[in-house]
Amino acid sequence: MITQDDLIALVRNYNPRCDENLIREAWDYGARMHEGQLRHSGEPYFTHPVAVAALLTEMRLDDATLITALLHDTIEDTKSTYSEVARIFGAEIAELVDGVTKLTNLQLTSSEAKQAENIRKLLIAMSRDLRVILVKLADRLHNMRTIRSMRAEKQAQKARETMDIYAPLAGRMGMQWMREELEDLSFRVLNPEARNSILRRFITLQREAGDVVHRISADIRTELDRNTIDADVYGRAKKPYSIWRKMQEKDLAFSRLSDIYGFRIITDSTEECYRILYVVHQRWRAVPGRFKDYISQPKSNGYRSLHTTVSGRDGKRVEIQIRTREMHEVAEAGVAAHWAYRDGKRSENPFAVDPVKWISTLTEGFDNADDHDAFLEHVKLEMYSDQVFCFSPKGDVIQLPRGATPLDFAYAIHTRIGDGCVSAKVDGLRVPLWTRLRNGQSVEIITAEGQRPQSSWIDIVVTGRAKSAIRKALRDEDRERFVRLGNELLRLAFDATGRELSPKALGTAAKLLNIPDIAELRARVGAAELSARKVVAVLYPETAHAAPEVDSSKPVVGLEADTDFRRAPCCQPLPGERIIGITYRGKGVVAHSMDCEALANYDEQPERWVDLRWVEGTHPAVYGVSLDLTISNDAGVLGRVCSLIGEHKANISDLRFVDRKPDFYRLLAEVELRGISHLHQVMTALEAETAVARVARSQDPALRP
Ligand code: MN
Repeated sequence: MITQDDLIALVRNYNPRCDENLIREAWDYGARMHEGQLRHSGEPYFTHPVAVAALLTEMRLDDATLITALLHDTIEDTKSTYSEVARIFGAEIAELVDGVTKLTNLQLTSSEAKQAENIRKLLIAMSRDLRVILVKLADRLHNMRTIRSMRAEKQAQKARETMDIYAPLAGRMGMQWMREELEDLSFRVLNPEARNSILRRFITLQREAGDVVHRISADIRTELDRNTIDADVYGRAKKPYSIWRKMQEKDLAFSRLSDIYGFRIITDSTEECYRILYVVHQRWRAVPGRFKDYISQPKSNGYRSLHTTVSGRDGKRVEIQIRTREMHEVAEAGVAAHWAYRDGKRSENPFAVDPVKWISTLTEGFDNADDHDAFLEHVKLEMYSDQVFCFSPKGDVIQLPRGATPLDFAYAIHTRIGDGCVSAKVDGLRVPLWTRLRNGQSVEIITAEGQRPQSSWIDIVVTGRAKSAIRKALRDEDRERFVRLGNELLRLAFDATGRELSPKALGTAAKLLNIPDIAELRARVGAAELSARKVVAVLYPETAHAAPEVDSSKPVVGLEADTDFRRAPCCQPLPGERIIGITYRGKGVVAHSMDCEALANYDEQPERWVDLRWVEGTHPAVYGVSLDLTISNDAGVLGRVCSLIGEHKANISDLRFVDRKPDFYRLLAEVELRGISHLHQVMTALEAETAVARVARSQDPALRP
């Protein structure tokens, strides 16, 4: 293990002005916290955080990231707490350590490709600060480098996870070296035979062809010298996993040099890059279709380089990348280049991408056909910030829009689960169904036999899937409600004439009225398609004239003498609409429109229901209705709307602005009308007006009892 002084020296190398004391303090604190803990290998546990920090110095990262690395397992594995870390090291570092802890706690159990994709999105979405991911990746890299001391089964699981999630994530962040190393370390665990066979082929090739890398590098150098170009040439064999993947993809034998070795020419300026390209193409023949100019068209993670493949004198192909030192830095560090230091200052690499901008580019499609990263090619990413990712108890990732609730989660799994949902546990705790879910939470839905969707659920859910499932269930439910309601209305009508309501009587009525069955008869009465009186009348024509006497000064029929009548404020029923009365002891009767949701509250109290109907004839325009209007914010529009309503002989008794946007107003107008057809006239006239974007009857749930 490196010493504290070694680590400080590594940091001072690139950042002489680092906060040495704070780094030392973090070291001492971490060492104290992990005191006595051991790794699987038997080494002291603290060697791990130190190694992670040292890895991050290779990327020349800032003090906060290094200190986070030293502390990254303290909150999780020791008695240290978030508040203690915040107190000693400040809020920024506490946040970072907390972020790494959260990522560590994710249950990344699923290995399906789709899930892996979601998890990668989750990781990014969860990390408000990408440095959290940098630490997590370094953590994983060190764990993979030391994976040999783990149980075989655990090794395979970690390797799978690394291959599916962390390696592509590193690639996505532009850290190609890390991606390659993570892949190769996983490959070694997952398919040692394949890897060994490739390594053996290397040895054979070396024996047959000699030191290919050295020979080709020397050739390139000679050519550059001849043209007095100052540049460094590097050659390397690709990692066994990249070779193996290429062989799999293209079904090629292990023969193509260009798939085995890669060469890089690194110089000082962009102009030099193009000059070098010219020189290389002059000397060797360019392979058609293999030239890519990522300098003029950089990748979204900031990657810039010229790529070309040329064939040498023996006809063997060689892949060459040409770039400047600054471009190279970004190619190696990717998004991390943003935090990197040089000579004590944030290195102002003009090619480093701003992490915030980088995240926003993830929303764009990737149409770069040459991008070998299948992850980039095939996946159209959606905006992460609009989404949350939660886990089912089995560890499946469920992707939901932000604002989603456990009910959305339930419907996302299955309509049956949604319909039967009675409560939910989030991270093991019971929560109300309207709780907004957050990234990384695990959600357990508790269902019960006989549970039905509630109409209030519509306002709780945000996903279209849940909304339409609930609406459908409510519609089915409505039929039952109509049947029950119809039966109640029929009972009242039969009672009023002193007859007994029997299934037999209803069966006869259904036949006489040409209705298929009793349930349908009841439903039609409940839905006001058929009046209960009519049913009574077909059975007992003599009672048809014995309608109850009504006081003509009252607008409705069906009230007992001296009973107060009021229109319900929630649904504001109008003459012409089917109404139902609900009695209040001492307060008279409140009339609701037949489809008012508030009626559900009285389902269990049939004795309070009163069959009401409006008196036939022309009513005065005294029935207030709230209209919800959205109108464009142009001069004179409001006046025009008001006079339009006046022209239709309706009064506006109140006008209230709900929302004022620069281009639109939303307002509530209280309009006094004669009845339902009057309302339709007014609404049709308003709808015809071009400045009116929307007009609807206001259904204010706040007014419901
Ligand atoms: Mn760790």
